[in-house]
Amino acid sequence: MLFLMTKTLLFQDPASFTTPLLAVFAVDIATGKDEAPSPALLSTSDALANAAAPWLGSGEFKAGLGETLLLHSPANAKAERLLVIGLGKAKTFSVHDVRKGAGVAVRFAKPRGIFELAIAFPEDKALADEHLETLPCHRTARALAEGALVADFDIDIYRSDRKDQSIRSVSVIAHEGDKKSQKEIQEGFDEGVVLGDAQNFARSLVNEPGNVLTPTELGKRTKAMCESFGIACEVHSIDKILELKMGALAAVTQGSSEPPALIVMRYEPAIAPPEGSPVLALVGKGITFDTGGISIKPADNMDKMKYDMAGAAAMIGAMQAIAQLKPNVRVMSIVCSCENMPDGKAFKPGDVITAMSGKTIEIMNTDAEGRLVLADGLHYAKTLGATHLINAATLTGAIGVALGLLNAGLFSNDDETTQNFLNGYAVAGEKFWRMPCTDDYREQIKSQIADIMNTGGSRYGGAITAAMFLKEFAEETPWIHLDIAGTAWIDDNKPWQSRGPSGIGVRSITEWVRSYAK
Ligand SMILES: [Zn+2]
Repeated sequence: MLFLMTKTLLFQDPASFTTPLLAVFAVDIATGKDEAPSPALLSTSDALANAAAPWLGSGEFKAGLGETLLLHSPANAKAERLLVIGLGKAKTFSVHDVRKGAGVAVRFAKPRGIFELAIAFPEDKALADEHLETLPCHRTARALAEGALVADFDIDIYRSDRKDQSIRSVSVIAHEGDKKSQKEIQEGFDEGVVLGDAQNFARSLVNEPGNVLTPTELGKRTKAMCESFGIACEVHSIDKILELKMGALAAVTQGSSEPPALIVMRYEPAIAPPEGSPVLALVGKGITFDTGGISIKPADNMDKMKYDMAGAAAMIGAMQAIAQLKPNVRVMSIVCSCENMPDGKAFKPGDVITAMSGKTIEIMNTDAEGRLVLADGLHYAKTLGATHLINAATLTGAIGVALGLLNAGLFSNDDETTQNFLNGYAVAGEKFWRMPCTDDYREQIKSQIADIMNTGGSRYGGAITAAMFLKEFAEETPWIHLDIAGTAWIDDNKPWQSRGPSGIGVRSITEWVRSYAK
Protein backbone atom coordinates (compact mmCIF):
# COMPACT_ATOMS: atom_id res chain seq x y z
CA MET A 1 0.00 0.00 0.00
CA LEU A 2 1.22 3.47 -0.77
CA PHE A 3 0.90 6.40 1.56
CA LEU A 4 1.04 9.44 -0.64
CA MET A 5 -0.04 12.10 1.78
CA THR A 6 2.01 15.29 1.43
CA LYS A 7 3.23 16.48 4.80
CA THR A 8 4.40 20.06 5.10
CA LEU A 9 5.62 22.16 7.99
CA LEU A 10 5.38 25.95 7.64
CA PHE A 11 6.28 28.79 9.97
CA GLN A 12 3.71 31.58 9.77
CA ASP A 13 0.53 32.88 11.42
CA PRO A 14 -2.01 30.07 10.89
CA ALA A 15 -4.72 32.68 10.16
CA SER A 16 -2.78 33.71 7.03
CA PHE A 17 -2.73 30.18 5.57
CA THR A 18 -5.24 29.38 2.82
CA THR A 19 -6.80 25.93 3.39
CA PRO A 20 -10.22 24.25 3.25
CA LEU A 21 -9.91 23.41 6.95
CA LEU A 22 -7.71 24.71 9.73
CA ALA A 23 -7.70 22.76 13.01
CA VAL A 24 -6.77 24.51 16.23
CA PHE A 25 -6.57 22.94 19.69
CA ALA A 26 -8.26 23.99 22.91
CA VAL A 27 -7.95 22.80 26.51
CA ASP A 28 -10.20 23.21 29.49
CA ILE A 29 -8.44 25.42 32.06
CA ALA A 30 -11.10 25.09 34.76
CA THR A 31 -9.53 23.48 37.83
CA GLY A 32 -12.12 23.36 40.62
CA LYS A 33 -14.14 20.17 41.00
CA ASP A 34 -17.49 21.84 40.40
CA GLU A 35 -16.21 24.66 38.20
CA ALA A 36 -17.85 24.99 34.75
CA PRO A 37 -15.58 24.07 31.81
CA SER A 38 -13.49 26.98 30.57
CA PRO A 39 -12.13 26.27 27.07
CA ALA A 40 -9.00 28.15 25.99
CA LEU A 41 -7.32 28.06 22.57
CA LEU A 42 -3.72 26.92 22.29
CA SER A 43 -2.97 29.64 19.77
CA THR A 44 -1.59 33.17 19.98
CA SER A 45 -3.20 34.16 16.68
CA ASP A 46 -5.60 37.05 17.37
CA ALA A 47 -7.72 36.25 14.32
CA LEU A 48 -8.32 32.67 15.49
CA ALA A 49 -8.97 33.77 19.06
CA ASN A 50 -11.53 36.37 17.88
CA ALA A 51 -13.28 33.91 15.57
CA ALA A 52 -13.65 31.28 18.29
CA ALA A 53 -14.31 33.57 21.27
CA PRO A 54 -18.15 33.80 21.08
CA TRP A 55 -18.46 30.01 20.92
CA LEU A 56 -15.88 29.16 23.55
CA GLY A 57 -17.85 31.16 26.10
CA SER A 58 -21.24 29.82 25.04
CA GLY A 59 -21.08 26.52 26.89
CA GLU A 60 -21.76 24.39 23.81
CA PHE A 61 -18.09 23.36 23.54
CA LYS A 62 -16.29 22.09 26.63
CA ALA A 63 -12.88 21.16 25.15
CA GLY A 64 -13.23 17.53 26.21
CA LEU A 65 -10.70 15.19 24.58
CA GLY A 66 -11.78 14.61 20.98
CA GLU A 67 -14.69 17.08 21.14
CA THR A 68 -15.04 19.27 18.03
CA LEU A 69 -16.57 22.63 17.13
CA LEU A 70 -16.79 23.59 13.45
CA LEU A 71 -16.95 27.24 12.40
CA HIS A 72 -17.43 28.30 8.79
CA SER A 73 -15.79 31.33 7.17
CA PRO A 74 -13.92 32.60 10.25
CA ALA A 75 -13.42 36.38 10.03
CA ASN A 76 -9.86 37.57 9.32
CA ALA A 77 -8.56 34.04 8.68
CA LYS A 78 -7.88 32.63 5.23
CA ALA A 79 -9.18 29.15 6.09
CA GLU A 80 -12.65 28.23 4.78
CA ARG A 81 -13.40 26.39 8.01
CA LEU A 82 -12.00 26.56 11.52
CA LEU A 83 -12.20 23.30 13.49
CA VAL A 84 -11.64 23.69 17.22
CA ILE A 85 -10.56 20.37 18.76
CA GLY A 86 -10.71 19.73 22.49
CA LEU A 87 -7.74 18.09 24.18
CA GLY A 88 -9.23 17.74 27.65
CA LYS A 89 -8.22 19.25 30.96
CA ALA A 90 -5.16 21.51 30.93
CA LYS A 91 -4.18 20.11 34.32
CA THR A 92 -3.71 16.54 33.07
CA PHE A 93 -2.77 17.45 29.51
CA SER A 94 0.25 15.84 27.83
CA VAL A 95 1.89 15.70 24.44
CA HIS A 96 0.09 12.37 23.85
CA ASP A 97 -3.20 14.27 23.72
CA VAL A 98 -1.73 16.35 20.87
CA ARG A 99 -1.18 13.09 18.95
CA LYS A 100 -4.83 12.20 19.42
CA GLY A 101 -5.94 15.72 18.54
CA ALA A 102 -4.09 15.62 15.21
CA GLY A 103 -5.81 12.31 14.54
CA VAL A 104 -9.22 13.82 15.29
CA ALA A 105 -8.56 16.57 12.73
CA VAL A 106 -7.78 14.02 10.01
CA ARG A 107 -10.67 11.71 10.85
CA PHE A 108 -13.06 14.65 11.01
CA ALA A 109 -12.03 15.78 7.52
CA LYS A 110 -12.04 12.40 5.73
CA PRO A 111 -15.75 11.48 5.72
CA ARG A 112 -16.65 15.08 4.82
CA GLY A 113 -14.68 14.94 1.60
CA ILE A 114 -12.08 17.41 2.83
CA PHE A 115 -8.78 15.98 1.66
CA GLU A 116 -6.48 18.89 2.42
CA LEU A 117 -6.16 20.36 5.86
CA ALA A 118 -3.89 22.36 8.12
CA ILE A 119 -3.25 22.05 11.84
CA ALA A 120 -2.14 25.00 13.97
CA PHE A 121 0.85 24.00 16.09
CA PRO A 122 -0.31 24.14 19.75
CA GLU A 123 1.30 27.04 21.59
CA ASP A 124 1.74 26.71 25.35
CA LYS A 125 2.51 30.44 25.57
CA ALA A 126 -1.13 31.16 24.67
CA LEU A 127 -1.94 30.30 28.29
CA ALA A 128 -0.56 31.49 31.61
CA ASP A 129 2.05 29.24 33.23
CA GLU A 130 -0.32 28.24 36.00
CA HIS A 131 -2.62 26.58 33.45
CA LEU A 132 -0.22 24.59 31.32
CA GLU A 133 3.26 23.19 31.67
CA THR A 134 5.54 23.89 28.74
CA LEU A 135 5.01 21.72 25.70
CA PRO A 136 8.37 20.44 24.47
CA CYS A 137 8.61 21.61 20.83
CA HIS A 138 10.32 18.52 19.46
CA ARG A 139 7.94 16.00 20.99
CA THR A 140 4.86 18.06 20.19
CA ALA A 141 5.81 18.32 16.51
CA ARG A 142 6.56 14.63 16.39
CA ALA A 143 3.24 13.72 18.00
CA LEU A 144 1.36 15.93 15.52
CA ALA A 145 2.91 14.22 12.51
CA GLU A 146 2.43 10.73 13.97
CA GLY A 147 -1.16 11.38 14.94
CA ALA A 148 -2.12 12.78 11.52
CA LEU A 149 -0.54 9.89 9.61
CA VAL A 150 -1.89 7.13 11.84
CA ALA A 151 -5.39 8.62 11.55
CA ASP A 152 -5.31 8.47 7.75
CA PHE A 153 -5.16 4.67 7.72
CA ASP A 154 -8.40 2.79 6.98
CA ILE A 155 -8.98 -0.96 6.67
CA ASP A 156 -11.37 -0.98 3.70
CA ILE A 157 -8.90 -1.66 0.87
CA TYR A 158 -10.75 -4.78 -0.31
CA ARG A 159 -14.18 -3.16 -0.64
CA SER A 160 -15.17 -2.72 -4.26
CA ASP A 161 -17.36 0.26 -3.29
CA ARG A 162 -14.45 1.83 -1.48
CA LYS A 163 -14.46 5.60 -1.69
CA ASP A 164 -10.82 6.36 -1.21
CA GLN A 165 -10.86 9.08 1.39
CA SER A 166 -7.14 9.26 1.94
CA ILE A 167 -5.95 12.70 2.88
CA ARG A 168 -3.86 14.31 0.15
CA SER A 169 -2.09 16.89 2.23
CA VAL A 170 -1.61 17.91 5.84
CA SER A 171 0.19 21.14 6.69
CA VAL A 172 1.32 21.94 10.20
CA ILE A 173 1.45 25.70 10.71
CA ALA A 174 3.71 26.85 13.53
CA HIS A 175 3.47 30.48 14.63
CA GLU A 176 7.02 30.55 15.87
CA GLY A 177 9.77 33.07 15.18
CA ASP A 178 12.53 31.65 17.39
CA LYS A 179 15.11 29.86 15.20
CA LYS A 180 16.07 27.31 17.85
CA SER A 181 12.45 26.29 18.39
CA GLN A 182 11.91 26.17 14.62
CA LYS A 183 14.80 23.73 14.30
CA GLU A 184 13.42 21.52 17.08
CA ILE A 185 9.95 21.59 15.56
CA GLN A 186 11.34 20.65 12.14
CA GLU A 187 13.33 17.72 13.57
CA GLY A 188 10.41 16.45 15.60
CA PHE A 189 8.07 16.76 12.63
CA ASP A 190 10.46 14.83 10.35
CA GLU A 191 10.81 12.04 12.93
CA GLY A 192 7.06 11.88 13.37
CA VAL A 193 6.59 11.42 9.63
CA VAL A 194 9.06 8.51 9.62
CA LEU A 195 7.42 6.85 12.62
CA GLY A 196 3.86 7.40 11.46
CA ASP A 197 4.66 5.91 8.05
CA ALA A 198 6.42 2.94 9.66
CA GLN A 199 3.48 2.28 11.97
CA ASN A 200 1.08 2.40 9.03
CA PHE A 201 3.27 0.00 7.06
CA ALA A 202 3.09 -2.46 9.97
CA ARG A 203 -0.70 -2.00 10.15
CA SER A 204 -1.09 -2.58 6.42
CA LEU A 205 0.71 -5.92 6.80
CA VAL A 206 -1.48 -6.99 9.73
CA ASN A 207 -4.63 -5.97 7.86
CA GLU A 208 -3.90 -8.37 4.99
CA PRO A 209 -5.86 -11.63 5.02
CA GLY A 210 -4.03 -14.92 5.40
CA ASN A 211 -4.66 -15.95 1.80
CA VAL A 212 -2.86 -12.85 0.55
CA LEU A 213 -0.14 -12.42 3.13
CA THR A 214 1.45 -15.88 3.19
CA PRO A 215 4.90 -16.26 4.75
CA THR A 216 6.38 -16.01 1.23
CA GLU A 217 4.49 -12.77 0.57
CA LEU A 218 5.55 -11.35 3.94
CA GLY A 219 9.13 -12.10 2.92
CA LYS A 220 8.66 -10.34 -0.43
CA ARG A 221 7.14 -7.20 1.07
CA THR A 222 9.80 -7.04 3.78
CA LYS A 223 12.54 -7.39 1.19
CA ALA A 224 11.01 -4.66 -0.97
CA MET A 225 10.85 -2.32 2.04
CA CYS A 226 14.48 -3.08 2.94
CA GLU A 227 15.61 -2.44 -0.63
CA SER A 228 13.85 0.90 -0.82
CA PHE A 229 15.37 2.06 2.48
CA GLY A 230 18.83 0.62 1.88
CA ILE A 231 19.13 -2.11 4.49
CA ALA A 232 20.18 -5.72 3.96
CA CYS A 233 17.54 -8.45 3.90
CA GLU A 234 17.68 -12.19 3.27
CA VAL A 235 14.62 -14.39 3.04
CA HIS A 236 15.15 -18.11 3.55
CA SER A 237 12.72 -21.01 3.54
CA ILE A 238 12.55 -24.61 4.71
CA ASP A 239 15.98 -25.76 3.48
CA LYS A 240 17.79 -23.16 5.58
CA ILE A 241 15.48 -23.79 8.55
CA LEU A 242 16.37 -27.50 8.46
CA GLU A 243 20.06 -26.77 7.87
CA LEU A 244 20.09 -24.53 10.97
CA LYS A 245 18.30 -27.33 12.90
CA MET A 246 15.46 -24.98 13.85
CA GLY A 247 13.37 -27.93 15.02
CA ALA A 248 10.72 -25.81 16.75
CA LEU A 249 9.97 -23.59 13.74
CA ALA A 250 10.10 -26.67 11.49
CA ALA A 251 7.54 -28.46 13.69
CA VAL A 252 5.04 -25.63 13.49
CA THR A 253 5.28 -25.22 9.72
CA GLN A 254 5.10 -28.93 8.86
CA GLY A 255 1.28 -29.01 8.82
CA SER A 256 1.00 -26.29 6.19
CA SER A 257 1.37 -26.50 2.43
CA GLU A 258 2.60 -22.87 2.40
CA PRO A 259 6.40 -22.67 2.63
CA PRO A 260 7.74 -20.90 5.75
CA ALA A 261 9.92 -17.78 5.65
CA LEU A 262 12.91 -16.99 7.82
CA ILE A 263 13.54 -13.28 7.28
CA VAL A 264 16.81 -11.70 8.38
CA MET A 265 17.20 -7.91 8.18
CA ARG A 266 20.35 -6.02 9.09
CA TYR A 267 20.95 -2.34 9.73
CA GLU A 268 24.59 -1.18 9.86
CA PRO A 269 25.36 2.39 10.94
CA ALA A 270 27.39 4.51 8.46
CA ILE A 271 30.20 4.91 10.99
CA ALA A 272 31.04 1.51 12.47
CA PRO A 273 30.50 1.51 16.25
CA PRO A 274 33.58 0.48 18.29
CA GLU A 275 34.36 -3.16 19.02
CA GLY A 276 32.22 -4.51 21.84
CA SER A 277 29.30 -2.14 21.15
CA PRO A 278 25.79 -3.58 21.55
CA VAL A 279 24.22 -5.60 18.76
CA LEU A 280 20.44 -5.45 19.10
CA ALA A 281 18.15 -8.16 17.75
CA LEU A 282 14.45 -7.62 17.06
CA VAL A 283 12.69 -10.98 16.87
CA GLY A 284 9.12 -11.22 15.59
CA LYS A 285 6.44 -13.90 15.62
CA GLY A 286 5.11 -14.11 12.08
CA ILE A 287 2.31 -16.69 12.09
CA THR A 288 0.37 -15.49 9.02
CA PHE A 289 -2.60 -17.62 10.03
CA ASP A 290 -3.12 -19.54 13.24
CA THR A 291 -5.81 -22.23 13.28
CA GLY A 292 -4.33 -23.64 16.49
CA GLY A 293 -3.18 -26.70 14.54
CA ILE A 294 -4.36 -30.10 15.81
CA SER A 295 -5.35 -28.35 19.08
CA ILE A 296 -7.73 -26.42 16.83
CA LYS A 297 -9.29 -23.16 17.94
CA PRO A 298 -13.07 -22.64 18.18
CA ALA A 299 -14.67 -21.15 15.05
CA ASP A 300 -15.71 -17.91 16.78
CA ASN A 301 -13.24 -15.13 15.98
CA MET A 302 -10.84 -17.46 14.19
CA ASP A 303 -10.90 -14.99 11.27
CA LYS A 304 -8.96 -12.57 13.45
CA MET A 305 -6.04 -15.00 13.52
CA LYS A 306 -4.62 -13.38 10.40
CA TYR A 307 -3.27 -10.89 12.95
CA ASP A 308 -0.96 -13.48 14.48
CA MET A 309 1.97 -11.93 12.64
CA ALA A 310 1.55 -8.53 14.33
CA GLY A 311 4.77 -9.05 16.31
CA ALA A 312 6.66 -9.59 13.06
CA ALA A 313 4.96 -6.52 11.56
CA ALA A 314 6.05 -4.41 14.55
CA MET A 315 9.67 -5.44 13.96
CA ILE A 316 9.48 -4.86 10.21
CA GLY A 317 7.92 -1.42 10.80
CA ALA A 318 10.58 -0.60 13.40
CA MET A 319 13.33 -1.59 10.93
CA GLN A 320 11.78 0.77 8.34
CA ALA A 321 11.96 3.61 10.89
CA ILE A 322 15.49 2.67 11.99
CA ALA A 323 16.68 2.64 8.38
CA GLN A 324 15.62 6.28 8.08
CA LEU A 325 16.45 7.62 11.55
CA LYS A 326 19.93 6.02 11.30
CA PRO A 327 20.87 5.52 14.97
CA ASN A 328 24.53 4.68 15.54
CA VAL A 329 23.98 1.12 16.74
CA ARG A 330 23.97 -2.27 14.99
CA VAL A 331 20.52 -3.78 14.65
CA MET A 332 19.31 -7.05 13.17
CA SER A 333 15.80 -8.40 12.94
CA ILE A 334 14.76 -12.03 12.69
CA VAL A 335 11.21 -12.85 11.62
CA CYS A 336 10.07 -16.47 11.92
CA SER A 337 7.06 -16.81 9.67
CA CYS A 338 4.81 -19.77 8.86
CA GLU A 339 1.21 -20.93 9.11
CA ASN A 340 -0.12 -23.13 11.91
CA MET A 341 -2.45 -25.66 10.23
CA PRO A 342 -3.95 -29.07 11.04
CA ASP A 343 -2.98 -31.69 8.50
CA GLY A 344 -1.83 -35.32 8.24
CA LYS A 345 1.72 -34.07 8.59
CA ALA A 346 1.01 -31.54 11.36
CA PHE A 347 2.83 -31.77 14.68
CA LYS A 348 0.75 -33.23 17.50
CA PRO A 349 0.25 -32.95 21.25
CA GLY A 350 2.65 -35.37 22.89
CA ASP A 351 5.35 -34.93 20.25
CA VAL A 352 8.83 -34.13 21.49
CA ILE A 353 10.84 -31.79 19.32
CA THR A 354 14.39 -30.44 19.54
CA ALA A 355 14.85 -26.68 19.23
CA MET A 356 17.88 -25.07 17.56
CA SER A 357 19.46 -24.52 20.98
CA GLY A 358 19.37 -28.29 21.63
CA LYS A 359 16.62 -28.07 24.28
CA THR A 360 13.88 -30.69 23.93
CA ILE A 361 10.26 -29.59 24.10
CA GLU A 362 7.21 -31.72 24.84
CA ILE A 363 4.23 -30.37 22.90
CA MET A 364 1.19 -30.12 25.16
CA ASN A 365 -0.87 -27.89 22.90
CA THR A 366 -0.16 -27.10 19.25
CA ASP A 367 -1.89 -23.73 19.63
CA ALA A 368 1.07 -22.58 21.76
CA GLU A 369 3.11 -22.32 18.56
CA GLY A 370 4.26 -18.69 18.77
CA ARG A 371 6.70 -19.43 21.57
CA LEU A 372 8.11 -22.31 19.51
CA VAL A 373 8.99 -20.20 16.47
CA LEU A 374 10.34 -17.44 18.75
CA ALA A 375 12.49 -19.95 20.64
CA ASP A 376 14.43 -20.65 17.46
CA GLY A 377 14.41 -16.98 16.41
CA LEU A 378 15.90 -15.86 19.73
CA HIS A 379 18.56 -18.56 19.67
CA TYR A 380 19.44 -17.84 16.05
CA ALA A 381 19.85 -14.12 16.86
CA LYS A 382 22.36 -15.04 19.56
CA THR A 383 24.37 -17.19 17.15
CA LEU A 384 24.51 -14.15 14.83
CA GLY A 385 26.08 -12.08 17.62
CA ALA A 386 23.12 -10.38 19.32
CA THR A 387 23.98 -8.89 22.72
CA HIS A 388 20.44 -7.66 23.52
CA LEU A 389 17.18 -9.29 22.48
CA ILE A 390 13.67 -7.94 22.13
CA ASN A 391 10.76 -9.93 20.80
CA ALA A 392 7.17 -9.01 20.10
CA ALA A 393 4.32 -11.45 19.67
CA THR A 394 0.57 -11.85 19.82
CA LEU A 395 1.41 -14.62 22.23
CA THR A 396 -1.35 -15.32 24.74
CA GLY A 397 -5.02 -14.60 25.33
CA ALA A 398 -4.04 -14.65 29.01
CA ILE A 399 -2.29 -11.28 28.71
CA GLY A 400 -5.66 -9.69 27.90
CA VAL A 401 -7.18 -11.39 30.95
CA ALA A 402 -4.37 -10.03 33.12
CA LEU A 403 -4.08 -6.47 31.79
CA GLY A 404 -7.24 -5.78 29.79
CA LEU A 405 -6.94 -4.43 26.28
CA LEU A 406 -5.15 -1.21 27.20
CA ASN A 407 -1.64 -2.20 28.23
CA ALA A 408 0.57 -4.72 26.48
CA GLY A 409 2.63 -7.05 28.67
CA LEU A 410 6.35 -6.52 29.12
CA PHE A 411 8.57 -9.28 30.50
CA SER A 412 12.32 -9.14 30.94
CA ASN A 413 15.29 -10.85 32.56
CA ASP A 414 17.22 -7.58 32.96
CA ASP A 415 16.32 -4.35 34.77
CA GLU A 416 18.67 -2.05 32.85
CA THR A 417 17.36 -3.23 29.49
CA THR A 418 13.82 -2.77 30.76
CA GLN A 419 14.58 0.75 31.99
CA ASN A 420 15.81 1.72 28.52
CA PHE A 421 12.53 0.49 27.12
CA LEU A 422 10.43 2.28 29.75
CA ASN A 423 12.23 5.58 29.06
CA GLY A 424 11.47 5.16 25.37
CA TYR A 425 7.86 4.15 25.53
CA ALA A 426 7.08 7.23 27.58
CA VAL A 427 8.22 9.26 24.57
CA ALA A 428 6.45 6.99 22.09
CA GLY A 429 3.13 7.21 23.92
CA GLU A 430 2.32 3.50 23.88
CA LYS A 431 1.25 1.52 26.92
CA PHE A 432 3.15 -1.43 28.40
CA TRP A 433 3.05 -2.91 31.88
CA ARG A 434 5.85 -4.97 33.36
CA MET A 435 4.89 -8.49 34.43
CA PRO A 436 6.96 -10.94 36.48
CA CYS A 437 8.96 -13.82 35.05
CA THR A 438 11.15 -14.76 37.99
CA ASP A 439 12.64 -18.25 38.21
CA ASP A 440 10.09 -19.44 40.80
CA TYR A 441 7.58 -19.63 37.93
CA ARG A 442 9.75 -22.17 36.12
CA GLU A 443 7.96 -25.13 37.74
CA GLN A 444 5.07 -24.34 35.36
CA ILE A 445 6.93 -25.55 32.26
CA LYS A 446 8.75 -28.61 33.68
CA SER A 447 8.08 -31.67 31.54
CA GLN A 448 8.03 -35.32 32.66
CA ILE A 449 9.80 -36.57 29.58
CA ALA A 450 11.60 -33.61 27.96
CA ASP A 451 13.51 -30.51 29.11
CA ILE A 452 10.42 -28.30 29.05
CA MET A 453 6.87 -28.35 27.78
CA ASN A 454 5.20 -25.69 25.67
CA THR A 455 2.24 -24.89 27.95
CA GLY A 456 1.89 -24.71 31.70
CA GLY A 457 0.79 -27.39 34.13
CA SER A 458 -1.94 -25.06 35.41
CA ARG A 459 -4.23 -22.56 33.71
CA TYR A 460 -3.15 -19.71 35.99
CA GLY A 461 -0.72 -17.06 34.77
CA GLY A 462 -0.69 -18.23 31.15
CA ALA A 463 1.09 -15.12 29.87
CA ILE A 464 3.85 -15.66 32.44
CA THR A 465 4.19 -19.33 31.49
CA ALA A 466 4.75 -18.27 27.88
CA ALA A 467 7.35 -15.73 28.98
CA MET A 468 9.12 -18.38 31.10
CA PHE A 469 9.31 -20.59 28.03
CA LEU A 470 10.96 -17.83 25.96
CA LYS A 471 13.33 -17.02 28.81
CA GLU A 472 14.77 -20.55 28.44
CA PHE A 473 16.04 -19.49 25.02
CA ALA A 474 17.15 -15.94 25.87
CA GLU A 475 19.14 -17.51 28.75
CA GLU A 476 21.66 -14.98 30.11
CA THR A 477 21.35 -12.49 27.25
CA PRO A 478 19.43 -9.34 28.28
CA TRP A 479 15.98 -9.78 26.81
CA ILE A 480 12.56 -8.15 26.61
CA HIS A 481 9.38 -9.93 25.58
CA LEU A 482 6.35 -7.88 24.52
CA ASP A 483 3.05 -9.77 24.58
CA ILE A 484 0.80 -7.67 22.32
CA ALA A 485 -2.04 -10.19 21.88
CA GLY A 486 -4.55 -7.91 23.62
CA THR A 487 -3.48 -4.65 21.98
CA ALA A 488 -2.47 -5.40 18.37
CA TRP A 489 -6.06 -5.23 17.15
CA ILE A 490 -8.62 -2.57 18.09
CA ASP A 491 -12.26 -3.64 17.83
CA ASP A 492 -13.83 -0.17 17.88
CA ASN A 493 -13.25 3.02 15.94
CA LYS A 494 -11.73 5.83 17.95
CA PRO A 495 -12.10 9.53 17.05
CA TRP A 496 -8.34 9.54 16.20
CA GLN A 497 -7.80 6.03 14.83
CA SER A 498 -9.60 3.44 12.75
CA ARG A 499 -10.52 0.05 14.18
CA GLY A 500 -8.30 -2.81 13.08
CA PRO A 501 -4.55 -3.24 13.44
CA SER A 502 -3.03 -0.81 15.94
CA GLY A 503 0.61 -1.02 14.91
CA ILE A 504 1.60 -1.17 18.57
CA GLY A 505 5.29 -1.60 19.28
CA VAL A 506 6.76 0.15 16.24
CA ARG A 507 7.34 3.47 18.00
CA SER A 508 8.47 2.06 21.36
CA ILE A 509 10.82 -0.53 19.86
CA THR A 510 12.39 2.14 17.64
CA GLU A 511 12.85 4.37 20.67
CA TRP A 512 14.44 1.51 22.62
CA VAL A 513 16.90 0.93 19.77
CA ARG A 514 17.78 4.63 19.71
CA SER A 515 18.56 4.54 23.43
CA TYR A 516 21.64 2.41 22.58
CA ALA A 517 22.98 4.82 19.94
CA LYS A 518 26.19 6.49 20.99
ZN1 LIG B 1 -1.66 -20.29 18.47
